Amino acid sequence: MSESTEPGSYFVSNYPPFSRWSGAAVPAVLEAFAAPPTDAALGLYLHVPFCRKRCKFCYFRVYTDTSASDVERYSQGLAREAEIVAAQPAVAGRKLRYVYFGGGTPSFLSVKQLERLVAGLHRSFGWLDAEEVTFECEPGTLSEPKVKALKALGVTRLSLGVENFDDQVLEANGRAHLSAEILRSWDWIRAAGFPNTNVDLISGMVGETTESWERTVERTLSLEPDSVTIYQLELPLNTTFVHDARETGAPTPVADWKTKRDWVDRAFDRFVAAGYTVSSGYTLVRDPARVHFRYRDMLWEGSDLLALGVASFGHLSGLHYQNATHWDDYLSAVEGGRLPVTRGLVATPRDLFIRETVLGLKRGRIDVDRLRAKFGIDPLEAFAPQWASLEAEGCLESVRPSPRLTRRGLLMVDALLPRFFESAG
Ligand code: SF4
Repeated sequence: MSESTEPGSYFVSNYPPFSRWSGAAVPAVLEAFAAPPTDAALGLYLHVPFCRKRCKFCYFRVYTDTSASDVERYSQGLAREAEIVAAQPAVAGRKLRYVYFGGGTPSFLSVKQLERLVAGLHRSFGWLDAEEVTFECEPGTLSEPKVKALKALGVTRLSLGVENFDDQVLEANGRAHLSAEILRSWDWIRAAGFPNTNVDLISGMVGETTESWERTVERTLSLEPDSVTIYQLELPLNTTFVHDARETGAPTPVADWKTKRDWVDRAFDRFVAAGYTVSSGYTLVRDPARVHFRYRDMLWEGSDLLALGVASFGHLSGLHYQNATHWDDYLSAVEGGRLPVTRGLVATPRDLFIRETVLGLKRGRIDVDRLRAKFGIDPLEAFAPQWASLEAEGCLESVRPSPRLTRRGLLMVDALLPRFFESAG
């Protein structure tokens, strides 16, 4: 892996990679919806694609210039999609274990819009007994009544997209919020008493220095969130940063990978010294006995995930799928009573075995017994050359009884995973 931050994606969010997904799998996905369910856990993901402003590093499907009527039509589309999905034989009557409102910016919606959206969704899916309802927030979109409304609507895990505390860094990266809005919203969040609060940070935003990063870490610590998630800035091709660099010919001044890893390493040390526990290559939790992240853990261990919303990603009965990626295509499908699936992949048992191995490694370890029992394959034997190479590179603490990454391995985990992929195997 080159140490400079070149344009391109390296973050592994799923397997097999999206390059293998296609429209040819859509009939198989529709058949899976029409077939009886498996006994996998069930989650629901809702994509709210609106943001106040497009961050310069953003690669998601988001809309920044929307009217109230667009938001209303989209919310009704989500509720309609929920109705269609909930009536499918593979879904009907199943209990949701977790719900995730992601984006975009779910907190972009007003209290009234949120209440109407949730009421619409509840007609198809109840989640008051789900183990976790996560809701992503952008600090500048929150108000005290909105935070209280989120608590009343059943949100159990509120995740705040802080990213950095330095106003110059926030502005240089095109974030819509400033530090004062973070602090103001945190008071409301703390007062509302969510069971689980998370703060997202990004290491290596443009303009970051070691000193500004350390200040961000200290200010995050002073908030005492239940968990902290730290990403390392990458430059996917469809970002404003990459687009601007192509226009001007000047590369985007992002710190190299070693510097970004060093910053995360320092942050991990600082949080661990304050009593936090490392729970993945990106996450620290304050009280692992009490604070869980069901969305991550269940999804990474093969739960079904129903995707609602434009461009949303789902997983059902061993198949991956994605919804229509354009506004009109998505809305015309759901308004016409059709599932808006646009592409997918029929994963083989071997694909699923690799998927759960690599996603497990993002938490720093794999559960050999669980994988062996589920897939009938021993990951220690199946990936013997991969474990040996990781060990030789100082990325693996031990292979037996279960492979466990070193801190060095954990901080560069996404770059280590392609060696497990079929084409590289
Ligand atoms: S808030 Fe998130 S989804 Fe919205 S533009 Fe920024 S990075 Fe993208």
